[in-house]
Amino acid sequence: RADLQIDYAAELNPQQLAAATASGGPTLIVAGAGTGKTRTLVYRVAYLVETGVEPDRIALLTFTRRAAREMLVRASGLLDGRCERVRGGTFHAFCVEVLRQHGEAIGLPRRFTILDQADAADVIDLVRTEKGLDSRERRFPKKRSLQRILSSAANRGMSVQEVIEEEHPHYARHADAIAELGDAFQATKRRYGLADYDDLLGLTAQLLATQEAIRKQVSGRLTHVLVDEYQDVNHVQADLVRLLASEHGNVTVVGDDAQSIYRFRGADVGHILAFPERFPGARVLKLEENYRSTQPILTLANHVLEGAREKYEKRLFTRKEGGETPGLVPCPDEEWQSRFVCELVLGTREAGVPLARQAVLFRASWCSYALEAELTRRQIPFVKVGGLKLAEAAHVKDMVAHLRVAENAADAVAWNRALLLLEGVGPRTVRKVLDWIGAQEASGADAYGLAFGADARYADSVRALAALLADLRDGRPLADQVDRLLAYYRPHFERIYDDWGRREPDLDGLADLAARYETRADLLESFALDPVDLSQEDVEGAYRDEPPLVLSTIHSAKGLEFDTVVLIDALDGVLPNEYAVKTQAELDEERRLLYVALTRAERELYVSYPASRWRRGSGGFLTRVSRFLEDTPEALLERVALVEETSGSALPPADARGAIGAGGGKGGETPKRLGP
Ligand code: ATP
Ligand code: MG
Repeated sequence: RADLQIDYAAELNPQQLAAATASGGPTLIVAGAGTGKTRTLVYRVAYLVETGVEPDRIALLTFTRRAAREMLVRASGLLDGRCERVRGGTFHAFCVEVLRQHGEAIGLPRRFTILDQADAADVIDLVRTEKGLDSRERRFPKKRSLQRILSSAANRGMSVQEVIEEEHPHYARHADAIAELGDAFQATKRRYGLADYDDLLGLTAQLLATQEAIRKQVSGRLTHVLVDEYQDVNHVQADLVRLLASEHGNVTVVGDDAQSIYRFRGADVGHILAFPERFPGARVLKLEENYRSTQPILTLANHVLEGAREKYEKRLFTRKEGGETPGLVPCPDEEWQSRFVCELVLGTREAGVPLARQAVLFRASWCSYALEAELTRRQIPFVKVGGLKLAEAAHVKDMVAHLRVAENAADAVAWNRALLLLEGVGPRTVRKVLDWIGAQEASGADAYGLAFGADARYADSVRALAALLADLRDGRPLADQVDRLLAYYRPHFERIYDDWGRREPDLDGLADLAARYETRADLLESFALDPVDLSQEDVEGAYRDEPPLVLSTIHSAKGLEFDTVVLIDALDGVLPNEYAVKTQAELDEERRLLYVALTRAERELYVSYPASRWRRGSGGFLTRVSRFLEDTPEALLERVALVEETSGSALPPADARGAIGAGGGKGGETPKRLGP
């Protein structure tokens, strides 16, 4: 069509074009990494908007807010600001919106609070204690295991008993007790106006499934539903997509079955494979050409996938010419590995690749600790994705608890935190206060009467708290509220934390964040759903003002791409994780994780591991390279020898940097060597 601003046919290949410009109805793309699935969705958004669809009637769903934003920014770049109005976000954020508006129909108060994973686990523990179930006795599961079981049941749409039978047979004799505990957990959350992540999805699905008029309204508000990374939807999310599309049937989903990495959260690759049955008449499109990586990177990724028990039909190929063989870098120890990464990153940067186009990936957040120290020492700026979050720091949680109480006076979990901060107040007093609150009709204002219900010994401090909370409630701007709160607690924290200097910046971070939100509810929602990464310390010198290097868990790097990727700690026991090697299904998921990591690289790829690493928890050392890479032919994964400089300070020596950074130079018949 000549009247369109964008020349879609020039930007997309025929299959991508067909999906992006489809008139309507269900469409599915299952295709390998880097084949342009996300690009196709971005162009589809632009196309729909350009052809007259109201932007706010398009829902664009995915798993991280970062990914959703990225798509909208890209669509806006293609077209214009109208794309900003598309309802793009995570499943969870979308559900919060629906529940705030309609949740009362199923008994959820408008001002419900969202529990993050740790809060939810604490509530489970609370309920367990109340029910007199002892975690020390007869190997009754601890709170995190209980959470995993209950969450799995919720996400897979199964009964607790079924989940235990299938996933945790060693708890079989406790199955009924755990199921009962699950019911009590639900009741407790409802009583206090709380919703955990699973509830956000589950309650929304329940709402739409049982309230015909609301389903019609919510789905009818939309004309199109688009989902990225569909291979990772769980039972409830798949159901939600169906319900949201029920009034118009225009649903486009894309994904890659070989990249399914959230099985542990109930994701089921069966949903993407069953899409054509669920949506009869669906257009099914395949993409085969990879536009991201060089052939040597794809050849290695294909090889890794070939070892899987489940077979994936796709083999990635590219028309890109050339490219270097990925390097395997055994390091004597963790420190060497850190120095190697720093040298590589700096060399690559010198060759013209900005830090932000390079990424270091790892299986678990703790893998990068040594590297973080080395980067900090060398003042190389980095951001860590998927690591400890601002919202997870204890003192920040303490402050947020007050805001939560101010928002939802029935929020017993937040009360618990806030009360325990008071001097002299212990669990027994908290219990009394909570009972008192529970006895009130969970109706906001009255709970503040607690100041008068408290024991004389604590009356003063409880009264002071009540006054502070009243201060938060009288409608002053959010930033003011947070300032007051911090001013009140700073002296207290200074006394109780001996590492206060290290913690203080987090509270400043909280204050900065508060200034960016209109309402307390917005701040709390964003905090619970999209915890902010801990801010990086200011960097001096050469790299000042430069966008930082990316450190990320593999899970959080899904969908992203970088010029250069280093996967560190590729040890057996780390990847695959030593706790995920019991069943073939677990092992296959670990293998897919490796596949996701490798396919993030565009031009250069390194896999490194220290010769040994202390095994966390169980003692002893891990020493073998990942079993998924063990027998990989040299031609696919070239061993790189590290050479120690006499000074021992830098690895590899400076003259090798050019060779690494330029992405050419070495290779061929001589083995790749970083060093003289
Ligand atoms: P993943 O499975 O990792 O999420 P994906 O299938 O979503 O990958 P994209 O991220 O959309 O892949 O695309 C990978 C890269 O290839 C992007 O840089 C994208 O812009 C580019 N690309 C995709 N299709 C084309 C095309 N037809 N022409 C030019 N570049 C393309
Ligand atoms: Mg993608």
